[in-house]
Amino acid sequence: MTFTLPKDRLRLAIQKSGRLSTDSLDLLKACGIKVKSAKEKLLLHADNFPIDILFVRDDDIPQLVMDGVCDLGIVGQNVLEEAALERRSAGTAGGYEVERSLDFGSCRLCIALPEERAYTSVQDLAGQRVATSYPQITKRYLEQKGVKAEVVQLSGSVEIAPRLGLADVICDLVSSGSTLEANKLRAVETIFKSTAALIRNQRPLNPEKAHALEIVLRRLDGVQKAAGTKYIMLHAPKASLEQIKKFLPGSENPTVLPLAGDDTKVAVHAVCSEDVFWETMESLKQAGASSILVLPIEKMML
Ligand code: ATP
Ligand code: ZN
Repeated sequence: MTFTLPKDRLRLAIQKSGRLSTDSLDLLKACGIKVKSAKEKLLLHADNFPIDILFVRDDDIPQLVMDGVCDLGIVGQNVLEEAALERRSAGTAGGYEVERSLDFGSCRLCIALPEERAYTSVQDLAGQRVATSYPQITKRYLEQKGVKAEVVQLSGSVEIAPRLGLADVICDLVSSGSTLEANKLRAVETIFKSTAALIRNQRPLNPEKAHALEIVLRRLDGVQKAAGTKYIMLHAPKASLEQIKKFLPGSENPTVLPLAGDDTKVAVHAVCSEDVFWETMESLKQAGASSILVLPIEKMML
């Protein structure tokens, strides 16, 4: 029996051009979904899977999914949370569900202030002007802390607001911290931690689309699981086999095979659910292992 794909097509929104674009496309590719590069196109049909990809600004993705224009979206949880809070405060209907947190786009929304300013606690923000592109998340945080401050909404270049005299402090996204450093700012509070996420419209999908989504999720889980997993192969003296097994990180039942031409040793193959570090390999070697190979795993289906 051959595997047949559903006919009805899912629609997925991803960022057209920005920090999440390459990782989103790479993830689709790793899930076996082929889309040709789309510099000028807004909508692309995958050739080998019932999914159409819509390329948009990241800020539009939550709304497209919540309104049901797209079934799925890949977006930063920071943008998602801000949009959800805004909808809630406006009383607009339409919900979403986070299907999976993804392992890219990681960043933090931080309150930062000019380097030279003293800071002891969040209470120091009382009466200050806070510039941000995330007014909802920022206001919620300040309210939760019982701090009365003025939130100034800016759509970009938030980090220069203190220098321009537009605000006293900022609340902005940070990943490495180099942008803050370049602008002589320092982060003092993290108010939201984010990664990209795969989201879907809350309403149930029709059976065809639900089936297609099930396949996507299974592949995605396989890709994500494989990313943290390694295949390790080594030769072990029979006498130290038990000790060597103990050093294999996160492997349950290694395969032990005879070695042709040497009955004092065996070959050990194991799937390790954790990264294999040099230190682990050195411990294995010390325990008597030799010919140690560590290989990446591309896909997994358990
Ligand atoms: P668009 O043109 O689509 O509106 P943008 O300029 O708003 O793009 P990007 O800068 O490409 O957005 O960031 C997209 C997402 O990447 C952010 O919302 C966030 O989830 C994630 N991200 C990760 N690291 C950072 C960072 N250091 N600064 C900003 N965003 C980051
Ligand atoms: Zn944006």
